[in-house]
Amino acid sequence: MTQRNNNLLFVGTNDIAGILRGKSFPVGEWDKRSQRGVGWTPTNVQITCFDSISDSPFGSFGDLALVPDPQTRITIDQDQKLDFAMGDIRTLEGAPWEFCTRSLARRAIEEFHALTGATVLSSFEHEFQLKGQVPRPGDAFGFKGFRDGQAWAEAYLAALSAAGCAPDTFMKEYGPGQYEITMKPAQGITSADNAAILRMLTHDVLTRFGKCPSFAPILDPDSVGNGLHVHFSFLDDVGEPLTWEEGEETGMSTLTRHFIGGVLKYLDQILAILAPSEISYLRLTPHRWSAAYNNLGFRDREASVRICPVTSSDPESIARQYNFEVRAADNAASPYLTLAALVFAGAQGVRDAIEPPAPAQEDLSLLSPEALAAKGFRRLPDSLGKALEALRSSEAARGWFGDGFVDLYIAHKQGELAQLEGLDWPAKCARYAEVY
Ligand code: GLU
Ligand code: MG
Repeated sequence: MTQRNNNLLFVGTNDIAGILRGKSFPVGEWDKRSQRGVGWTPTNVQITCFDSISDSPFGSFGDLALVPDPQTRITIDQDQKLDFAMGDIRTLEGAPWEFCTRSLARRAIEEFHALTGATVLSSFEHEFQLKGQVPRPGDAFGFKGFRDGQAWAEAYLAALSAAGCAPDTFMKEYGPGQYEITMKPAQGITSADNAAILRMLTHDVLTRFGKCPSFAPILDPDSVGNGLHVHFSFLDDVGEPLTWEEGEETGMSTLTRHFIGGVLKYLDQILAILAPSEISYLRLTPHRWSAAYNNLGFRDREASVRICPVTSSDPESIARQYNFEVRAADNAASPYLTLAALVFAGAQGVRDAIEPPAPAQEDLSLLSPEALAAKGFRRLPDSLGKALEALRSSEAARGWFGDGFVDLYIAHKQGELAQLEGLDWPAKCARYAEVY
């Protein structure tokens, strides 16, 4: 008799709430489960980050399958080994479910490729903070803070490498107990898979070292935010870069210009997806080096989209390094929805040949709304409520995501907001710090 392998494999979905949820099965059942998946319940999509359930059109009805993707299968080799895979939520007939975040990101990437012939290369740059840290002068980018974290950081980077999330750099960021980790870019939805796995491993590894990390957009209303910057570049089908063009002052190729034009035109309408918590809007304020306007920056860290620097004068090397980052998102969002929203908006920019505004050269917070408008800029929604209204009335977002998704998403977030009623800002931050 052959011995069955009863070690568990966890199959996960990073859902609308940006939370990793899923089920497990014995590894020995892989052949069957990688075809059929495990059962999943439609109303799970309305479980908020606080585990309340928002209004659901499904009630107690319906069945779905969460199907592991063999390409994402990894073994997490911490104290207790765990097999793991990201999954897609499918209907029982095998079609992508319209509320599956991973399937939405895949569709956005595929539609973009069909439109432009370009493959999206992206990388999610994460900031997080250790909770309960007393601010210590000299810790901003400081050696002492780095050294404090070195023991867990080396185990953490080893775990990321083993999981296929090639780490790039690690540093002590500006804020109290704040660190930043960057990964090498990856194609298509793999970058979002890597982001979901990175967030999971951050908690998994650091808690074994007695640390309590949080990716919440901001821990203290009076302190720094934890951003998520998504870096983009494009490749053609033989792997040649398409992002940079010699001659243009900022180096943007036509594809890049129009993609950025689309992102900036629709940023206010997709912001509720990229920055999806009530406290996200404490971070998206001027002078926090996050994003407060629909502006393009040429190496300016107060811009929603920033052209990043390259370290070469050789055109071939510039073309490979050249990338831009979207700085308006945070880690309360599912990386899949962030990727989907940005690529849908970028594709619309390409379709309509939308030009971005010229890079801002001044402090936009000093301009009146009229002066801003004259230059093509506007303040982004300054609350989740306003961002949700912009999403609700967005014909564009309804076209990309579907009416069903937009309405369900808004209902989800309204249920989440209801959980916070009556709390002051520090208490709201504390609620989010518990879950991200
Ligand atoms: N902490 C800033 C943010 O919330 C980013 C700082 C930086 O890395 O430039 O996005
Ligand atoms: Mg940073």
